[in-house]
Amino acid sequence: MTDFADENGSRSRDRQLGMNRNITRRDFLNGMAIGAGGVLASPWLGALLAAQAPALSAQDRPNYYPPTLTGMRGSHPGAFEVAHTLRDGTFWEKAGKPVETGEEYDLVVAGGGISGLAAAYFYRKHTGPSARILILDNHDDFGGHAKRNEFHLGGRMLLANGGTVSIESPFPYSKEARGLLTELGIDPPALEKKYAGNGAFGALGFGYFFDKETFGAERLVTNAPGGFYGRQGASGKWADFLARTPLSAQAQQDIARIQEAKVDYMEGVPQEQKKARLSKMSYKDFLLNVVKAHPDVIPFYQTRTHGLYGIGIDAVPALDCWAIHFPGFQGMGLDRVPSKGLTFTALGEVTRQEEFYFHFPDGNASIARMLVRSLVPGSAAGSTAEDIVTAKMDYGRLDHADSPVRIRLNSTVVLSRHVGDAASAKQVEVVYGRDQKAYSVRAKGVVLACWNMVIPYLCPDLPAQQKEALHYGVKVPLVYTVVGLRNWTAFQRLGVTGVSCPGMYHTSMNLDQAVNIGDYKPPQSPEDPVLVHMLRTPCQPGLSAREQQRAGHYDLLATPFETFERNIRDQLARVLAGGGFDPARDIEAITVNRWPHGYAYEYNPLWDLDWPEGKRPCDIARRPFGRITIANSDAAAAAYTDQAIDQGYRAVQELLSV
Ligand SMILES: Cc1cc2nc3c(=O)[nH]c(=O)nc-3n(C[C@H](O)[C@H](O)[C@H](O)COP(=O)(O)OP(=O)(O)OC[C@H]3O[C@@H](n4cnc5c(N)ncnc54)[C@H](O)[C@@H]3O)c2cc1C
Repeated sequence: MTDFADENGSRSRDRQLGMNRNITRRDFLNGMAIGAGGVLASPWLGALLAAQAPALSAQDRPNYYPPTLTGMRGSHPGAFEVAHTLRDGTFWEKAGKPVETGEEYDLVVAGGGISGLAAAYFYRKHTGPSARILILDNHDDFGGHAKRNEFHLGGRMLLANGGTVSIESPFPYSKEARGLLTELGIDPPALEKKYAGNGAFGALGFGYFFDKETFGAERLVTNAPGGFYGRQGASGKWADFLARTPLSAQAQQDIARIQEAKVDYMEGVPQEQKKARLSKMSYKDFLLNVVKAHPDVIPFYQTRTHGLYGIGIDAVPALDCWAIHFPGFQGMGLDRVPSKGLTFTALGEVTRQEEFYFHFPDGNASIARMLVRSLVPGSAAGSTAEDIVTAKMDYGRLDHADSPVRIRLNSTVVLSRHVGDAASAKQVEVVYGRDQKAYSVRAKGVVLACWNMVIPYLCPDLPAQQKEALHYGVKVPLVYTVVGLRNWTAFQRLGVTGVSCPGMYHTSMNLDQAVNIGDYKPPQSPEDPVLVHMLRTPCQPGLSAREQQRAGHYDLLATPFETFERNIRDQLARVLAGGGFDPARDIEAITVNRWPHGYAYEYNPLWDLDWPEGKRPCDIARRPFGRITIANSDAAAAAYTDQAIDQGYRAVQELLSV
């Protein structure tokens, strides 16, 4: 990374980068976001300033519209503090006795992500439209990882996904998950046919940026051959591309061999044994010890698994990398038959039948918004998959006494306990923290669709073995940064739509492939404003996968927005320098979608035991407990939309059978 140690040098570099520019991330007070017109997005800041604030809850105030907030989003300030004090055992010291709201529901759902919203949807479908349901979520917006980033640049609305983007899953959708999409009006293959690939950047290629700190010399090399993150690259030989890079001659030779040579590096070893061995070694070890590549090749490949796994090639099994079409295996005669040792994602890749790449401009936030529109009448206009894209959500409608389904934001569930014995109780008490107070409601049943590792803290009566299982998975931290630019002329001049930056703060940057759908018009001309997606994974090679994820979690929470901003500006300036990019002039807005608790933990054969089906920690963790059941994609140990929906469905079925 750039050395900012010299104070005068770093000040003038900051000016060049535009750190002093008044862009839309500046609506911050000590890292806490404040929306337009002084609307408080953080209830905790709201409480601090209670003397000046009206008694209305934040989401009921006029102009409350979290999708347009910029700066630090995802796990934004104000979203996680209550849960952390609960974890640290200090919440109850300060909260005092819960205020009894007197509210009674048929169902309370903890967690307003896709799984929790789907659970509410299925419950209402099975019990009828008058079912009284309360959904509680700790964020200032619903959707969980399915978050909408909405920008208004140069008079144009631009949308991006703050988290989950694609509907496709490694496995075919279940009847229930597909059925839910169909009932909402989402037909992914039909949408794919109509709208996929209609963005304006199709003709641009891909490149690699070699930074001087990692590779000894700084260079953007365009026209990368071969597939680049699943997309077609330029035709041409790897040797020609590599000759333009600053990589050593030996590294160039070895990378060309890894990419193109058909060599069986385990000649004579039976197929199943090859796969078994590959499942127990990392891709890094495969390259070094089996392919016998020079160590100089490792920095080129190290971060290639970040987007899908949140960790580098040191911690992802080689067998997974084979399954997801990494190079090096093309001469090894491995058949694409599912075998032991593949993670969920890789297994799906091997058995994949249907492929479609349609995604909404705001990713799966559109699914969350369609679920909310269906659950809470009047919350948004329209009825189709097209009109949801530009529909403005009325947050003031979400938590209204006249609606059977209510969604209460900025509310962290801190207790879920049966009123009486779990085996015979008729009700569950649910307590949530909001505005530095605790409130209680009662329900006939509860679905905990929140992150599974928080459940032992809020559900103290669970059996010890189940609590241990709930704690097992460490969610994968990652950051999706979205930068609004004045235009994309620099990308056009350089001929790139995306650049892999294996050694940099963000390991990739791509023009957002926005879809032209309904009334939504993504950028067309290079002079139009545009959004750039950047990926950062705060992993720490050398540790086990779970330790890397735990360390990354703390790293993300300890990193101030300013550090992200400086690195974003520095990186864009360096990568796009040859295209005339000026960070001080061209950057209009920055949103850092920080997810310290990102993907659900998927079992990794390098570190996890080979549990039989039904005995995995997630199987034990999701057992129903009286009138309390457990959903979330964590309950499937699989970070996919369909899994989140399926778990919501199962949790509701369990509840209905009590
Ligand atoms: C950056 C990113 C990209 C992804 N990309 C994709 C993709 O392209 N395709 C795909 O299929 N999947 C993707 N995923 C996986 C995604 O997690 C799942 O697909 C799915 O959206 C998870 O939904 P969920 O409801 O299970 O969990 P979440 O979306 O995490 O929702 C759970 C909600 O519960 C809340 N909560 C936690 N504790 C409490 C509490 N005590 N009280 C109240 N609320 C609480 C959480 O804050 C959260 O809002 C991605 C995930 C991330 C982080």
